Amino acid sequence: MTNHMFGAIRNAATEFGALFVETTDGRRWTYGDMIAESGRLAERLVERGVQPGDRVAAQTEKSVEALMLYLACLRAGAVYLPLNPAYTLPELGYFVGDAEPRLLVVAPEKAAGAREVADRHGAHLDTLDANGGGSLLEGLEATSGDFSDVARGADDLAAILYTSGTTGRSKGAMLTHDNLLSNAVTLVDYWGFTSDDHLIHALPIFHTHGLFVASNVVLLSGGSMMFLQKFDPEEVLRLMPAATTMMGVPTFYTRLLQHPGLNRETAAGMRLFTSGSAPLLAETHRQFKERTGHAILERYGMTETNMNTSNPYDGDRIAGTVGFPLPGVDLRIVDPESGAAVPQGETGMIEVKGPNVFKGYWRMPEKTASEFRDDGFFVTGDLGIVDGRGYVQIVGRGKDLVISGGYNVYPKEVETEIDQLPGVVESAVIGVPHPDFGEGVTAVVVKEAGASIDEASVVASLQNRLARYKQPKRVIFVADLPRNTMGKVQKNVLREEYAAIYEKAR
Ligand code: ATP
Ligand code: MG
Repeated sequence: MTNHMFGAIRNAATEFGALFVETTDGRRWTYGDMIAESGRLAERLVERGVQPGDRVAAQTEKSVEALMLYLACLRAGAVYLPLNPAYTLPELGYFVGDAEPRLLVVAPEKAAGAREVADRHGAHLDTLDANGGGSLLEGLEATSGDFSDVARGADDLAAILYTSGTTGRSKGAMLTHDNLLSNAVTLVDYWGFTSDDHLIHALPIFHTHGLFVASNVVLLSGGSMMFLQKFDPEEVLRLMPAATTMMGVPTFYTRLLQHPGLNRETAAGMRLFTSGSAPLLAETHRQFKERTGHAILERYGMTETNMNTSNPYDGDRIAGTVGFPLPGVDLRIVDPESGAAVPQGETGMIEVKGPNVFKGYWRMPEKTASEFRDDGFFVTGDLGIVDGRGYVQIVGRGKDLVISGGYNVYPKEVETEIDQLPGVVESAVIGVPHPDFGEGVTAVVVKEAGASIDEASVVASLQNRLARYKQPKRVIFVADLPRNTMGKVQKNVLREEYAAIYEKAR
């Protein structure tokens, strides 16, 4: 048994001629190609002065070559550090200053701006575009690709991934070879991945979901994947008959449901659809089942912990839950203040422990110490419940809890009621400073086109459904909820936007 992530990938690759990945414009890589290309890139990293333990930062468009760069880092013993292509130049400057990479790889159109950032922090700069062009790969065909992987221990860093920044500034999560490998091995088994699988990969690869969950699971099972530049319902439906699995975020499913081409026939060859990164509405789960016959498997993970829980592959996939803790993951629900276990069925802070849990936040020793309990459990920041059958439900984020008039209001409970009202597409409930209540429960609602609901009708409908202190004091209608690239609703954006509504009312 190896603890080296690439060692495990190499051991799993038995059919060198088998397809590993293809792109929608017809480019294909076999497992043999993957090993040769990542080897050549690992050599290139060494040429650039990258040494074991050095960071290699990449702010590129999604491409197979960018995935190869991740694999090359594993092989060269370097620490892969992908960055969201949406980051602006000042943001890039911040992350590069924080991470101090030896090498910075950016999309060619960003090179001019990134040059100054790289120089300022002593990084070498290279470019890589979505079609495999750019200085990083120049002349690479001429090299042998016969690279001997640098040995790494289970505890050595494989990657630093910045969190999505949903609740504040992104933090660099330090992930070891063992973190990645143990989680991927578990998921291959839990979700039944084999070399017969063909995955639709439409997720970004700067985030844990697309980079680790999706790609590592394919690599360790010897299966193949179709790499889409970005999610496009039309394209996904065109590819679906030749695929077996898809991993997505909830917005993929709501967008597929808007497309008339989604039906049982198109999805007949599929064996698994998974959803994560953000809560999947029970209604989406129900409609998808009705249209395709497939129950979406919802699971729960974080940048810091890889995957924590999953609904069962064989067994009931319950909408509104994220399933059971994965094998090897210890999960408990505690009182956020005292840290004492709460009675089963009650809401508390979710804490996890296991080989999946990261080593700490990059250059944030105090933050790291404050998020781990003495017995090694990591405080996720998510509130949850474990029900009588052991299914975990995410109630929301601790930071989104609204305290109104001294009472705790869990936004999800209010959102669930609002979402069931006729004419409502979705809602986000936030706490906004209120002169009398401390925080005022505030609902931001997206309604269906032409729906005749208004603030008064929503408030009236909730009167008999929710205790008074949980009822929204204001209902605001918007065209869309603000979301980040992973489809997460940015409640901090909403809180800022409506920060003054109760002051104004006075
Ligand atoms: P930051 O930590 O920077 O504020 P973030 O928490 O959104 O950002 P990620 O690591 O990308 O960064 O997301 C992990 C979080 O996503 C989890 O802590 C949880 O709140 C949420 N999440 C993931 N999967 C699910 C799910 N199936 N249902 C509900 N929430 C989920
Ligand atoms: Mg987080």
